[in-house]
Amino acid sequence: MKLSTLNIAKTLRPKVVIVGAGSGGMSTAARLARKGHYDITVVDRAETHYYQPLWTLVGGGQFNLSDSGKPISSLLPKSATHVKENVASFQPADNKITLENGSTLNYDALVLATGLELNYAGVEGAKEALKEDLKVCSNYSPAYVLKTFPAIKSFKGGKAVFTFPPMPIKCPGAPQKIMWIANDIWKNDSSVGKYELEFNTFLPVIFGVPKYAEALMKLVESEKVNLNRQHTLVEVDHLSNLAKFKKADGEMYETNYDFLHITPNQRPLKLFRDDESQLTDAAGWVSVNEKSLQHTVYENIFGVGDCTSIQTSKTAAAITSQHAILCENLEKFFNKEKFSEDYDGYTSCPLVTSQNTCIMAEFGFGGEVMESTFLNQGKNRYSMYLTKKAAIPFIYWQLMMRGLWAGPKPLKPLTNPFNWN
Ligand SMILES: Cc1cc2nc3c(=O)[nH]c(=O)nc-3n(C[C@H](O)[C@H](O)[C@H](O)COP(=O)(O)OP(=O)(O)OC[C@H]3O[C@@H](n4cnc5c(N)ncnc54)[C@H](O)[C@@H]3O)c2cc1C
Repeated sequence: MKLSTLNIAKTLRPKVVIVGAGSGGMSTAARLARKGHYDITVVDRAETHYYQPLWTLVGGGQFNLSDSGKPISSLLPKSATHVKENVASFQPADNKITLENGSTLNYDALVLATGLELNYAGVEGAKEALKEDLKVCSNYSPAYVLKTFPAIKSFKGGKAVFTFPPMPIKCPGAPQKIMWIANDIWKNDSSVGKYELEFNTFLPVIFGVPKYAEALMKLVESEKVNLNRQHTLVEVDHLSNLAKFKKADGEMYETNYDFLHITPNQRPLKLFRDDESQLTDAAGWVSVNEKSLQHTVYENIFGVGDCTSIQTSKTAAAITSQHAILCENLEKFFNKEKFSEDYDGYTSCPLVTSQNTCIMAEFGFGGEVMESTFLNQGKNRYSMYLTKKAAIPFIYWQLMMRGLWAGPKPLKPLTNPFNWN
């Protein structure tokens, strides 16, 4: 019998606590609210919800930061409650969480959607450089993304350096997207003199999925990018305009910069790094069954998004599929039904390659290409740029944040009927 038809469900609405009001938390709240039979509480001290994928285009000068954020109160379903406090610790054996103000909340089911921690301090001198040096910027934080476009416009030639830190990071395409946008701006600005682009990446490749890596390598060659593989930023000395990298063999590499875009080191939240309640794997990522989103130890806990151990690229696109499967399984949990193990690792990365082109990477577990359209998405396309700039933000705000979007897969029989990739 479905929960919604049970009298007990009408009188005792199962209490679902969602920790985190980011992409994963808010989409889950919206989708669960549509069921009408949950008592939903979202716990997050933040007042603003950001659509972070827009920050690439904020850095590129195409949007304002304010276009990427909305008050959580304006997005939260009317039936849900926002507790404006952060979680301090978990007591999963007692179905309880403790907030930073010392109060506790009980739940019938818990959804963890706390994202990840940006660790700018993990690179010596990075925070100081971001604070003091107008040539240093970073699209990854609302605190620094506003520096990016002015730094791009002030660059008049010399060396532009871009960095990619150790994995895992959110949106592994973003560290290079801003390089391609900046390059396009500089190429078309007659006041910019001779310049050199340098991309220093922790990875041995430009991108993890061969189909898209091949397309991007053509761009690396045509735009004469100096691609330094397995080079990890460890120090910035902004007084000398010097960026220092550690290579895979332990040797150091130093370079001067006239523009520096830093992608910060990223890690699980301290909350989870310190947690002793078996919620996380050894690294501190919330340990879930990556096909069902259910916690590997506690049956009434689920995880979604960047905070989880799921071995796919950490993106809002991944959350489109993940949160829908999570909601389905939460319902099945209360109905004591067998779970769907349908999450296939779907994720997407709109690899913006100029101010008006984009390679729309879509893939799943193991890098399996999963394109939504019949077009070859490994090509630079204006249509895909418009998808990134206009269609996806529209879908995010108008559909996903209202619990009406479960990713592009349900449309695929129409948009890519023969599954061409
Ligand atoms: C520059 C950039 C470009 C990107 N580009 C793309 C793209 O093109 N496509 C794409 O799909 N994705 C992209 N992403 C990635 C995408 O934005 C993230 O993967 C996604 O937002 C993650 O959602 P989340 O809910 O897991 O975490 P978040 O959205 O980060 O939300 C986490 C929430 O948890 C809250 N929180 C933290 N600690 C606590 C606590 N102790 N208690 C309670 N609440 C807490 C935070 O306040 C926050 O509201 C990009 C990201 C960046 C930074």
